[in-house]
Amino acid sequence: MSGWRLPVLTYHAANVAGGDYLGNDHVALAADLAMFARAGWRIVPARWAAEQVACLADRDLRRCVALTCDDGTDLDLRDLDWPGVGRQRSFAGILAEAAGRFPALTPHLTSFVIADPQARAVMDRDCLHGRDWMREWWAEAGPHIEIGCHSWDHNHPALGTTGLDGMPRGDFFVVDNEARADFQIAQALDYIGARIAPARCALFAYPYGHANAFLREDWLPRRGPELGLLGAFGCQGEPAHAGSDRWELPRFVCGWHWKSAEELWALLASCA
Ligand SMILES: [Zn+2]
Repeated sequence: MSGWRLPVLTYHAANVAGGDYLGNDHVALAADLAMFARAGWRIVPARWAAEQVACLADRDLRRCVALTCDDGTDLDLRDLDWPGVGRQRSFAGILAEAAGRFPALTPHLTSFVIADPQARAVMDRDCLHGRDWMREWWAEAGPHIEIGCHSWDHNHPALGTTGLDGMPRGDFFVVDNEARADFQIAQALDYIGARIAPARCALFAYPYGHANAFLREDWLPRRGPELGLLGAFGCQGEPAHAGSDRWELPRFVCGWHWKSAEELWALLASCA
């Protein structure tokens, strides 16, 4: 299929600032799924973007959209009470409800999770509410969620200390040599893969969307396939298409590239 364009969307289950679409990705995801169903769109696995770009498949992707979410908090899988806001329906629950109401929608979501247990414990304490919301729920993800890799520790600033080899935190562009890439990506794929076996991660998502030339042009093309990777996602705000880079596939991010169902619809129409 020539001229194909596949929008890949990104949500964050820890975006819970209130009960409105803007600021609550649970509200946004439920509204967006209903909109796709009404419009007769279909959800396809994000890996299809990688397979199509790599010429491993040639599917008809018209009126299709792919869904992803980042950081892998428990809110992807479990309904939880957000302090001051209230009960949040999990992404898995929202997908299951949509599958029941709209079978033709075929809901599917790739959840990009962080491997390092110590880093997750720090993020749970400093960025969430210290309630053990960054557990290894990955093997229980259920029928609508596929697990992808979002690095070893996100090189997250909450970790405080410098990273491997003096690496400054809060940035993924600094993962620019063999040792740092092994630490952040190969080690993470091993760790997550051991927990979701016999499944394995086929996709990687760059923390912060930071994709440097070393990872994109050298390390991932060289090491990615042997590690089981089909592709890697950034956040460039355009649909995936035949000219996309398999190792920096574009995504749109909820709250950044669109802020309402109407804006999302306009964005999808512009991709068609
Ligand atoms: Zn992230």
